Amino acid sequence: MYDDNNIFAKIIDGKMPCKKIYEDKDVLFFEDINPVSKVHILGIPKVKCVDFSEFVLKYDQNIVANFFQKVEVVIEKLGIKESGFRIISNSGADGGQEVPHFHIHILGGEKIGSKIR
Ligand code: AMP
Repeated sequence: MYDDNNIFAKIIDGKMPCKKIYEDKDVLFFEDINPVSKVHILGIPKVKCVDFSEFVLKYDQNIVANFFQKVEVVIEKLGIKESGFRIISNSGADGGQEVPHFHIHILGGEKIGSKIR
């Protein structure tokens, strides 16, 4: 069950601030408030979805494909395509998901090594 009051829902609605990297009508990318690497960006679709599985199963393939195509746009924009990056999506209790709106972490700007988020 999607919680309309989760932090990322408030960010999408403009009720909470964020440092935007990229936004259009469907997606939003912004800086993580507690970065674990020099580049640490969060990417979210604007549709209501709790986690990866819900996003992929519940929404039209065009919405899903568009989100991941925008991830590529942002990676280019961040200038980390050549140096490399890590994309992570935590899901559920074992995955350590804190915010119940599907999101991906983009980590880069330095060697990530064994750091995980
Ligand atoms: P996860 O464990 O995958 O749910 O990670 C949630 C991420 O959201 C963490 O890396 C937090 O640092 C980040 N976060 C929480 N609140 C905010 C916020 N208001 N603005 C930006 N990032 C946030």
